[in-house]
Amino acid sequence: MNARLIAISGLGGKEPAAFVVEAQGRRLLLDCGEGPQPGLLPDFDAIGSVDAVILSHGHKDHAGALRYRDRLGSPLVFATDPVAARLPDGLAARPIPIRGHTRVLGIDIETGADGHALGGVWLRLDVGEGLLYMGDHSIESTVYSFDPPPVAATMIFDASYGDAEETQAAQRSALANLATRSALLLPVPPDGRGPEIAIFLQEAGFDVAIDQALREVAISLTRTARASARPESIAALERLLGEARALDASSPAGGVMLAHGASGDVGVAAALIQRFKDLADPAIVLTGHVAPGTAAHALWLSGRAHFQRWNVHPTFAQNVQLIERVAPRQVMPAFGDPRFLSLWRDRLAPRAVVMSKVVEL
Ligand SMILES: [Zn+2]
Repeated sequence: MNARLIAISGLGGKEPAAFVVEAQGRRLLLDCGEGPQPGLLPDFDAIGSVDAVILSHGHKDHAGALRYRDRLGSPLVFATDPVAARLPDGLAARPIPIRGHTRVLGIDIETGADGHALGGVWLRLDVGEGLLYMGDHSIESTVYSFDPPPVAATMIFDASYGDAEETQAAQRSALANLATRSALLLPVPPDGRGPEIAIFLQEAGFDVAIDQALREVAISLTRTARASARPESIAALERLLGEARALDASSPAGGVMLAHGASGDVGVAAALIQRFKDLADPAIVLTGHVAPGTAAHALWLSGRAHFQRWNVHPTFAQNVQLIERVAPRQVMPAFGDPRFLSLWRDRLAPRAVVMSKVVEL
């Protein structure tokens, strides 16, 4: 039966994720993001009316535009339990498993943990000859599980890091180096890289403080969201919970402080930045995508914040290896700079690397 993929948003660099799948008389929307640049939204008119939204994970650039779902015909929302529990406005979602098989409006979907976020999954839809949507993924996390996905004829992969080959090992020592020099403030997504950076620095012997948002994520990884966590990380998460100091908006500067609010605009991170930005200490270290228009970007431009990446997406080589394993006929690089297109085409030939908005599945 005919099936189509319509890439509404996500092929032109770091854009909000929104991919429509038309199959079996249904229209599904994979992710419904906003940002990372504040206010950046997918074209709702181009999406049109959909029957369901399925979320890969809860980060804003994948789920932040759900509040506009009345413009999409008020579709049903499907998400894993840990993602659903953190959706704003008490939005009710129907459950999909972190790891397993389910049916959404008659379409078979297989899921597996994405190694990237609390409750995050890749999705393999049994439409056309098979469509695998990786969302955001990483194989390097010491906290989040990654399940290798099955084969699919079409694959949307996480090209966020373009041709980057640096692995977390180098990034860990660079971050530890910074922590030996001064107190650090790390604005982080609590349901992403926050807990694993905190564990790494604590185990490296630094005095670590985490805010309530990070603590709650670490607690859920050891309890209700355990399917998202690598089994060997549970003891480390429990040590973090037992030993990390509490951090809030009025805490004195000292040690390594990890706070919710990677953009610097929200959460305890925003409050601490306001207090510390005109002082020489603590050093402010950004570890993820720094979007123009955010407080983090302004701090980086002025030289007040350092940038030290902590991988939460695959390197070029990790992507190539994954794509060879999934063995798709055609691939679509998502969330990456389009200037890498020829590089992907050279390396992945004879597979088709497609950047067209509409793809037959
Ligand atoms: Zn993400």
